[in-house]
Amino acid sequence: MAAAIEHPLTELEAFERQVAGCTKCRLSQGRTQVVFGVGDPAADLMFVGEAPGFHEDKQGYPFVGQAGKLLDKLLAGIGLERSNVYIANVLKCRPPGNRDPGPDEIQACEGHLFRQIELIRPRVVGTLGNFATKLLSGKPTGITRVHGVEQEVTLGGSRVLLYPLYHPAAALYTPAMLKVLEQDFARLPELLGREVAPPAPIIAPVAPESPAPAAVQLGLF
Ligand code: URA
Repeated sequence: MAAAIEHPLTELEAFERQVAGCTKCRLSQGRTQVVFGVGDPAADLMFVGEAPGFHEDKQGYPFVGQAGKLLDKLLAGIGLERSNVYIANVLKCRPPGNRDPGPDEIQACEGHLFRQIELIRPRVVGTLGNFATKLLSGKPTGITRVHGVEQEVTLGGSRVLLYPLYHPAAALYTPAMLKVLEQDFARLPELLGREVAPPAPIIAPVAPESPAPAAVQLGLF
């Protein structure tokens, strides 16, 4: 048998190896493995879900259960497959019993996601559901109000189009929501073709001096 040819690790692969041993929060104690993310490491389109569930924790890949099958179908509907995009989650480890992510867990884990975005440099980030949408938009507005409305944001040092979408798991059993999700998905090819402006230079404010804005409460929960 021919020996496998070893290639130098890409930065994303090296980062994945590093995150595999993460013990930043208590979720590391109950996980089978870290679910880092999967897909094209230079994808123009990246999806961010909530957290691994039972099957994802066992298999080590995001969105491999029922919600993942729906995500595959939605991708096929716009002529794409998993290998064309990158899929990750806000949390890299499964919360026990699939409970909601805790604020402390999101805080411990968010750096991993921001670094992934920095290395992948997608043009469009589709946030699936409330947790990813609130974290990456930096705003407390819920998915019901913002789904299907793209917004330019700076993530991982680059300007990207953030595109909030309903979570496929929520759409699985709600036909009306599924219809909206399909309609929102149908706009992705157009968004991928859009030019996004480079970040505006940071110019130091000049007088008159205004009071500092109150800290923005993300209201994730
Ligand atoms: N739901 C998510 O948000 N992520 C997964 O990986 C699976 C289900």
